[in-house]
Amino acid sequence: MIIGILKEIKAEENRVSMTPGGVEVMVAAGHQVLVEQSAGVGSGFADKDYQRAGAQIVPEAAHVYAHAAMVMHVKEPQAQEYQHIREGQIVFTYFHFAASEELTRAMLGRKAVCIAYETITDVAGGLPLLTPMSEVAGRMAAQQVAKYLERAQGGRGLLMGGVPGVEPATVVVIGAGVVGSQAARMACGLGAKVYLLDKDLTRLRYLDETMPANCFVMMSSPATIRELVINADAVIGAVLVHGAKAPRLVTREMFATMKPGAVLVDVAIDQGGCFETSRPTTHGNPTYEVDGILHYCVANMPGAVPLTSTMALTNATLPYALKIANQGWKSVARQDPGIAEGFNVVNGLVCCKGVAEAFGFDY
Ligand code: NAD
Repeated sequence: MIIGILKEIKAEENRVSMTPGGVEVMVAAGHQVLVEQSAGVGSGFADKDYQRAGAQIVPEAAHVYAHAAMVMHVKEPQAQEYQHIREGQIVFTYFHFAASEELTRAMLGRKAVCIAYETITDVAGGLPLLTPMSEVAGRMAAQQVAKYLERAQGGRGLLMGGVPGVEPATVVVIGAGVVGSQAARMACGLGAKVYLLDKDLTRLRYLDETMPANCFVMMSSPATIRELVINADAVIGAVLVHGAKAPRLVTREMFATMKPGAVLVDVAIDQGGCFETSRPTTHGNPTYEVDGILHYCVANMPGAVPLTSTMALTNATLPYALKIANQGWKSVARQDPGIAEGFNVVNGLVCCKGVAEAFGFDY
């Protein structure tokens, strides 16, 4: 199969959908890979790295769309790309269709085969192509806390781990899924005293056995949150209620009880945020203050570390891309129920219940 790797054109997006290492694997399996010129530059990969791996560099996205049977992106195709997408062409990327009727209608109109990273499931029912980005965002959340506790960044002037004789920072992490557990582990590694909250008791039991000794695993409730934020130097929001907006768990009323200069990092901002005062920010202007409490609410945190994120993404997507290329999408859709969940829009029809319900399409 001819596979096309496109350059990301969405604002602030420096990731690329395949590393040169991934290209090498595809080529070794007998596939041909076209890479749009400069596609990897934002992630630190030069065209010559892709050429060495066996790819052919092509000057424009239009060439990639014209020749590839499957094109790969990180973000959804942008409006200027719609015209290039051909009937029956596989588009394999993060789509988040339910967030855009325009995109859904465009892909229906192009009669493309749209396989969305975010809805592919694994045997345990997890979302294997979302997990790596949650891992990145979780680990990064702890780094952001450390940074924004510094005085020059507007924080309280506190070192996460303290020093011998001086107490460390207290960090409260709400939500102990992928993001929360990774954030807690990193904060623990920096020496903070960490409270990790979730509503899932089975999950709490597991984390209680596996987290470091400076992590205190607690059942999440409004009363526990109200009590813990009083002594918190930082709070990380990492909850997810599947298919719903994030619940608002830290209210503005609580700020009056908190330490001035405390840091709130709302990783769940892409689902609306779990603090009452959260609103999305960008890497260019990541923080703002409300009642003396610093907020960091960047909606695409992995975008700040494209080299790590691109490698993590390729690690996860490559086996799927290889399977689709080796077997063809029809055979994969019949044989692999997890990948079948990824088929959102195919040949002019919506095949994903959530997308159909979002816009009232037949399903
Ligand atoms: P996950 O499903 O692995 O974990 C979510 C956890 O929240 C679950 O363990 C669940 O039990 C828990 N939870 C639900 N309600 C709760 C409550 N009231 N109190 C405490 N815990 C509660 O999800 P994840 O992969 O960790 O993602 C978390 C959030 O981070 C999602 O909204 C995701 O979209 C977002 N995210 C954001 C970025 C970014 O760049 N900002 C990047 C990756 C993920």
